[in-house]
Amino acid sequence: MNETPVLKGHSAIVTGASSGIGAGVARAMAAAGASVVVNYHSDADGANGLVRRIVGDGGTAIALGADVSDEGEVRKLFADAVSAFGRVDVVVANSGVQQDAAIGDMSLDDWRKVIDVNLTGQFLCMREAVRQFRSQPNGARPARSMGAIVAMSSVHELIPWAGHVNYAAAKGGVRMLTRSLAQEVASERIRVNAVAPGAIRTPINTEAWDTDEALAKLLRLIPYGRIGEPEDVARAAVWLASDAADYVTGTTLFVDGGMSLYPGFRDNG
Ligand code: NAD
Repeated sequence: MNETPVLKGHSAIVTGASSGIGAGVARAMAAAGASVVVNYHSDADGANGLVRRIVGDGGTAIALGADVSDEGEVRKLFADAVSAFGRVDVVVANSGVQQDAAIGDMSLDDWRKVIDVNLTGQFLCMREAVRQFRSQPNGARPARSMGAIVAMSSVHELIPWAGHVNYAAAKGGVRMLTRSLAQEVASERIRVNAVAPGAIRTPINTEAWDTDEALAKLLRLIPYGRIGEPEDVARAAVWLASDAADYVTGTTLFVDGGMSLYPGFRDNG
């Protein structure tokens, strides 16, 4: 049986899509029928390579560079996406960085960099998404909603993380940004949700899984017994963006193999 791809006719922007989870989400959205903007920050080669791969698989994609923490560049990203595909239906605000330090050694630059990309970047992309969704003609919509936003949060929107206060503060901010915006725009049938990955095998956390010793330590935190892959997160993002999740807004879907289930209490605490 041939099922209609769930994002057929949609146009999607995925930020930070030249690597890791963003690349997985871009591929999955394209496989689900969406025309995809593969946003990148500095790795144009990575983004262009992914576009070639998507097109080779029969999908539609273009690469567009933009720094999500820069208001002008985010506006241009959306304008260029509309020029290319005519509309925007799905925005996955995925870009993120880590700049780790113990509190006594954390510089203001370390703090600002992570807040600027991981929180302000999400705000700028969400605001532009809402403006774009509002401006599009009603009749041409491919979905029940007026548009869907998926924020890439983290288990650290919930789990405190010593040595990473900038990152955890930003993701905690993403949680309330997602929920507050969802409340604000729900009556316009714009849906805003987040995905909270646990430990996913990507370049952002290589040191947490690239040796046997590091992986064994990591697995103690994951009841399901394996590290996550970008595809695990991508499937959740596609679902949240699609009509299958039409009544879902303001929520965070944890994709973490149980990492947020207080695994330290497995053996009676
Ligand atoms: P990654 O380093 O492969 O991806 C991050 C992407 O963000 C990169 O492509 C990078 O170029 C992009 N980026 C950085 N600064 C940018 C900027 N100023 N403008 C535009 N793009 C920028 O790592 P990843 O694991 O794929 O991370 C993707 C998202 O998933 C992040 O928000 C991260 O916090 C989140 N996350 C990852 C994990 C994990 O275990 N890997 C867990 C929880 C949450």
